Amino acid sequence: MQVITEHWVGDRLIEGAGTAHQDWLNWSGLHQLKPLDLSMRFPVGKRVVVIAPHPDDEILGCAGLLQQLADLKREIILVAVSNGTQSHPDSLMYTPEQLNTIRPAETQQALETLGISHRVKRIALNFMDGEISRQKHQLQQALTTLLSPDDILVSTFDQDGHPDHEATGQVVQQLANDTHLICYQVLIWAWHWASPNDQRIPWHKTLKLPLSAQQLHNKHKAIGCFKSQLEVDHSTAQPPVLSKQTIQRMLMPYEVYLCG
Ligand SMILES: [Zn+2]
Repeated sequence: MQVITEHWVGDRLIEGAGTAHQDWLNWSGLHQLKPLDLSMRFPVGKRVVVIAPHPDDEILGCAGLLQQLADLKREIILVAVSNGTQSHPDSLMYTPEQLNTIRPAETQQALETLGISHRVKRIALNFMDGEISRQKHQLQQALTTLLSPDDILVSTFDQDGHPDHEATGQVVQQLANDTHLICYQVLIWAWHWASPNDQRIPWHKTLKLPLSAQQLHNKHKAIGCFKSQLEVDHSTAQPPVLSKQTIQRMLMPYEVYLCG
């Protein structure tokens, strides 16, 4: 993720604390979503390609999915669109050059914490963090060379509110449509700006993936690996990029994916 001081696309404004995770948990609509049948929807022989705009999106959004796919022994490719180098503007603690190394290393540590690093092959595309919406054509070209007809794609919601998340989601969905691949989009920032039963989210297309207590515990530990996103930046007096509320929202007992 990038600094959350303020981001918006259209009416999807990311500012302040966002909707409390308890409000989501109190919403019966969340519990009534249809479950995602993993073994049926991610069958043997398919490769799963997770396309993450920033290092941490794959864990915040998909740590449960990744653990369950690894249990099913599926082949998993993690495509890192950017290395998240712009998360700390003007920082002396975390310069873009440092973040270019630190943030991919945090993802690696998180995958090791989940015990699935041996099952995930990471491919870095090195697009500029914060600029993905201006490079959609290049992203489409880069992904085209990587994908195969047996792939199932997982990316960010194309109306997630963060420009990089939306651009990535749009490119991946378009590619999926053009090449007849299945594509799932995970909600990340939508939990912040949306509210229960928000009509800006096509709930009828969503499926929930329940996480076991152990998977949730592992996900919490894996999120803890993103130290650069969890610390106060003393050089700029900026709060942590990932607030407590953001982390709580990502530790609900479900991950929610849109399909088709
Ligand atoms: Zn992100």
